Amino acid sequence: MLAQTSIKIKVRNLFFSYAETAVLKDLTVDILDRSITAVVGPSGRGKSTLLSIFNRLWEDIPGARMKGSVHIHLDGTDRDIYHPACSLPDLRRKVGLVFQIPNPLPMSIYKNVAFPRKLAGGSSKQQVMDAVETALKQAFLWEDVKDRLREDARSLSGGQQQRLCMARALVVNPEVLLLDEPTSSLDAEATEIIEQLILSLKENCTIVMVSHDMAQVKRVAERWLELSEGKMMANGRISAPACRAR
Ligand code: ADP
Repeated sequence: MLAQTSIKIKVRNLFFSYAETAVLKDLTVDILDRSITAVVGPSGRGKSTLLSIFNRLWEDIPGARMKGSVHIHLDGTDRDIYHPACSLPDLRRKVGLVFQIPNPLPMSIYKNVAFPRKLAGGSSKQQVMDAVETALKQAFLWEDVKDRLREDARSLSGGQQQRLCMARALVVNPEVLLLDEPTSSLDAEATEIIEQLILSLKENCTIVMVSHDMAQVKRVAERWLELSEGKMMANGRISAPACRAR
């Protein structure tokens, strides 16, 4: 019997606008657990906005408004992430976001990755060190940096910086990882490493990735959804990405 695929993110009748600009208009969509879903569509259609809605990053933008509901299944429970009882720091730990341009903090490689773990509290120094090592290994970066953990993170190459940002998101064991065009500033070689990394994370994470590169979407994603005119224009399954067969 085939395993039942569960829904990780449930969006219902979502309307979103920035001051004068209506961006999403009655969007309803389900995102499956432990899948890699690509959000595609022309520029300015609300792809990045949709990611920011999944971890409430837009809330401080003056004039921005949202209507509708977003539920995410976290810690084994269905959570209305806009319910007043939903803890924002907890949500941001469970739903990590990696931006288009790598944004290391002006501190050492080690401190960059340790930072969210320390902020979460409840871990001993040794536990933080172990978590940093695990996250750097998950992000395919450990071998590159294990002997230079005290160096400034900004001394890393662009591709390494993006993997560092992935490690920083992974160190708190997120259930959902949001990736906003994570390779658009990288060269082909660095892009390939990040794509392999994304594929390796799927076992433990639900990944939602904005990409404008359809070849990449076919290599990495299993599902896609296209935004247009503020709604879901189409969605579907991608069969056997070539990259996974390697
Ligand atoms: P996409 O990711 O599809 O390119 P975005 O979600 O970035 O689209 O943007 C959707 C629309 O919202 C665009 O018209 C953009 O100019 C506008 N927008 C995005 N961010 C802001 C903001 N912080 N304030 C005002 N308008 C914004």
